[in-house]
Amino acid sequence: MTSRVRPHLSYNEPLLFERSSPGKVAYQLPELDVPPVDPKEALGPSNVREAIDDFPEVSEVEVIRHYTRLSAWNYAIDFGMYPLGSCTMKYNPRVNELVARLEGLAWAHPYQPESLAQGAMEVMARLEAALAEITGMDAVTLQPAAGAQGELTALLMMRALLERRGNPRKKILIPDSAHGTNPASAATAGYAVENIKSNEAGMLDVAALEQHVNEDVAALMLTNPNTLGIFEEQIERVAEILHAKGALLYMDGANMNALMGIARPGDFGVDALHLNLHKTFSTPHGGGGPGAGPVAVKRELEPFLPVPRLKRTGKKWAYDYRRKDSIGRVRAFYGNFGVLVRALAYILAHGGPGLRNVTLDAVLNANYIRRKLEPHFDLPYPSPAMHEVVFSDARQAVHDVHTGEIAKRLIDYGFHPYTVSFPLIVRGAMMIEPTETETKHELDRFIQAMIDIAGEAEQDSEIVRNAPHATRTSRVDEVAAARKPVLRWKPA
Ligand SMILES: *Cc1c(COP(=O)(O)O)cnc(C)c1O
Repeated sequence: MTSRVRPHLSYNEPLLFERSSPGKVAYQLPELDVPPVDPKEALGPSNVREAIDDFPEVSEVEVIRHYTRLSAWNYAIDFGMYPLGSCTMKYNPRVNELVARLEGLAWAHPYQPESLAQGAMEVMARLEAALAEITGMDAVTLQPAAGAQGELTALLMMRALLERRGNPRKKILIPDSAHGTNPASAATAGYAVENIKSNEAGMLDVAALEQHVNEDVAALMLTNPNTLGIFEEQIERVAEILHAKGALLYMDGANMNALMGIARPGDFGVDALHLNLHKTFSTPHGGGGPGAGPVAVKRELEPFLPVPRLKRTGKKWAYDYRRKDSIGRVRAFYGNFGVLVRALAYILAHGGPGLRNVTLDAVLNANYIRRKLEPHFDLPYPSPAMHEVVFSDARQAVHDVHTGEIAKRLIDYGFHPYTVSFPLIVRGAMMIEPTETETKHELDRFIQAMIDIAGEAEQDSEIVRNAPHATRTSRVDEVAAARKPVLRWKPA
């Protein structure tokens, strides 16, 4: 990076700490026109901080430019395709943002009296109803703040139901292709985890399942379509096997963008599932949130839903806290309201037929990529793809080029990497999820980049192995970053 001079966008932005010089401030306040108060007296000494070590002192314009430059460095769905498999990085339509910024919704306060929050409550009630319809389930809670929290919420409800039946049981069964949050949630809910193998088709091995299910098993957690992007064709049989032994079927619904408008989990035997509004329903996603992971359940689990529940009395909405079987609260207030508003806007803007088209286009796009890249990359499972496709690096590994390096090389071609090394059952996995919002033009650009990189791996493997070349920083020490993170800047 020498000859191209774009200093403001391409130089390595220093930390705010490094820009600091004593006495600089980023605010101006008028002279006090009331008697000054000692904050320690007013708030209590324990609530007042003396000083923060090395707190940066900078001017307003320095702060604004610092963060604006950093924001322009970030890759985003508004720049281009973001094929991060399993994450469903679809474009977020601006109409959702417009609706979420309406004054009555943006400024609603959770402590507002119910009589003044009827509109916000109606929004949540309509979203609950829409999600129940889309999933074919009986009742929905919007409280969980993410998919993982939805999993835990549902497992605690299942535990409560089984306890009421006389035995909470001990184990949760989880296929080897599952997302890491599934075993984590099961353990947090106090269950032991037992793994089940997938078969050569990349589906749950039903014979193995039959051997595992007994009176100790509380539930199976199954992602459908699973993380290989394959629909579990035996799903009805799977539900029968579990139900016959008094166990429950939990569906990880993070991949509902492959079913919406086509098939409903409630119709194929699922007892509870979570949705990721920040995936399927296009609410902004990334940078740590906020998200929303609503849980949908069958009638039998409804009494255990978290409080409060929305309840219609006459013409008014009210919150019902007096539900004796509820597992209690899982989150402050009612959920990430702004996310809920965006999801309802998305659902209403599309309507039923529109949501069905979303699914069809997501599946079409993934299969288009699958067909175009199949001659160049190893496809470990031949089953048809749903909304995403998983290749392996087997053909490139011969030239000592691996999935992580191909992903880094994609950055040089202007794309966000696909998901690397997941699912774990595929060695050198390359998991690609285009979503329905990509045009054929953008898909073709991505496919060409992948084909070019496959060519480089054969002829010029160094260039792939040392990628990325076009970024400010190339390879960082990922192990050191994870094991010894520097969380506090110290002057040199
Ligand atoms: C994303 C995802 C999750 C976790 O959802 P979060 O909202 O990130 O907590 C769980 N399972 C699958 C299959 C996922 O893709």
